[in-house]
Amino acid sequence: MDETTSKLAFDTDWQYDPAPESTDHIRIDEQYELFIGGEFVAPKEGRYFDSINPANEQVLARVAAAGKDDVARAVKAARKAYQTSWSTLKPAERGKYIYRIARVLQERAREFAVIETLDGGKPIRESRDIDIPLAAAHFFYYAGWADKLEYAFPGKQVAALGVAGQIIPWNFPLLMAAWKIAPALACGNTVVLKPAETTPLTALKLAEVIRDAGLPPGVVNIVTGAGDTGAALVDHPDIDKIAFTGSTAVGRSIQKSLAGTSTKYTLELGGKAANIIFADAAIDEAVEGIVNGIFFNQGHVCCAGSRLLVQESVADEVIRKLKDRMESLIVGDPMDKNTDIGAINSPAQLAKIEDYLRIGQAEGGEMYQSSATLPTTGYWCRPTLFTGVSQSNRVVQEEIFGPVLAIQTFRTLEEGLDKANNTPYGLSGGVWTDKGAKIFKMTRAIRAGVIWANTFNKFDPASPFGGYKESGMGREGGLHGLDAYLELS
Ligand code: NAP
Ligand code: MG
Repeated sequence: MDETTSKLAFDTDWQYDPAPESTDHIRIDEQYELFIGGEFVAPKEGRYFDSINPANEQVLARVAAAGKDDVARAVKAARKAYQTSWSTLKPAERGKYIYRIARVLQERAREFAVIETLDGGKPIRESRDIDIPLAAAHFFYYAGWADKLEYAFPGKQVAALGVAGQIIPWNFPLLMAAWKIAPALACGNTVVLKPAETTPLTALKLAEVIRDAGLPPGVVNIVTGAGDTGAALVDHPDIDKIAFTGSTAVGRSIQKSLAGTSTKYTLELGGKAANIIFADAAIDEAVEGIVNGIFFNQGHVCCAGSRLLVQESVADEVIRKLKDRMESLIVGDPMDKNTDIGAINSPAQLAKIEDYLRIGQAEGGEMYQSSATLPTTGYWCRPTLFTGVSQSNRVVQEEIFGPVLAIQTFRTLEEGLDKANNTPYGLSGGVWTDKGAKIFKMTRAIRAGVIWANTFNKFDPASPFGGYKESGMGREGGLHGLDAYLELS
């Protein structure tokens, strides 16, 4: 497309007709209790909080806030289940239960997708095509390992750890629950899971599935609440392992609390990934990959490609194409099947993103946003990019966790690599080039746990995921994900 045709295409004032997903087939209760010992029970202190829909600010449900006593009760139920049923069950039987969860999730996928979108604000297309199918895939994958653990680690004795405390964030609520629960159960552990305060509903629906699948009471316990509920879980003395996914700041405080104790832990933390485009790359495909890498799920993605490093000779072309593509992205009702960018998850997260937009401009960056009209209620941010930023700028160094891309250029491979590695994080990265040799060179030298070549944001349960440096320690997914829930001797 030359300049004239590209302009004409966007001058034509046509729009998609609304195509909202129906909510007729879902049930959200007015109030949810804690899931402890196989039953839904009221919180001891009687505290509840609201979970809202960030796209329209309406309350979806009242949800129990677990206090210290409730957490203790959940840990006790998990310990009892570990000792009396789960650890004594034949591994193949454990596998059957996990397969059952996977199948029910698959059967009820539409319902889960709609609730995920209502509670968290992500486009229905993503919850339907990515979050829910991948969550089911994780349960299927780890169900298969339950009776093959000794083959996973030849020559080693394998044993479960005991009770795992698991704390997850709001960006992929059901998927993160699946990443945590499936390998833990396959390895013979029991769990207490704390979902994020703003997105508890699919975890509570999962609790219903787990109950209906007939898992022995107490094998999985779900304690909703805010940060203090998470802290109570971390501080509980009868936990054998803490698995945390969230911010680097909270991860650091957890590490401090657990220092000197025998509790094992894995931390999946923040990121500031760079997509690196070489001049020889297929530019249109790379632009599509970058758009997917940063605007997917409103940029609420730990491995988001929130930086773009583009080789100088193609920088103008890439930036022009990116701006054109941003202009065509539909921002709005997450329940609409055409929507590309949904709601920001919470007012607090929106305020944080807007802070960074001010910081980026104050640091001298040039900000560009699409001209999308935003809904008048709910929390929204237009797709945004910054040019004219340098390596020391905060929008280049810090995780924004929103649809904001920081663009820098480079001349040589070495300069691109230096810039890619020059942040405190090391979770993921992307390389776009026509040359296989460059891919190998770059993927070996980028200090990140996951690197995609000529694609971005692709996941598979068999593939390990995790970070270097301040992006965390330990791996989830694949064989590595089993290791984190076993004692090997
Ligand atoms: P967060 O504030 O660290 O929260 C994560 C979870 O920890 C939530 O359930 C939170 O509860 C809980 N929590 C808060 N304070 C706690 C404390 N003192 N002790 C124990 N638990 C506590 O992170 P977030 O803002 O929800 O999530 C975004 C972050 O997660 C980003 O940095 C992102 O990169 C990271 N992330 C990493 C990965 C990965 O695999 N590496 C994947 C997804 C997200 P409340 O939410 O209820 O306060
Ligand atoms: Mg919510």
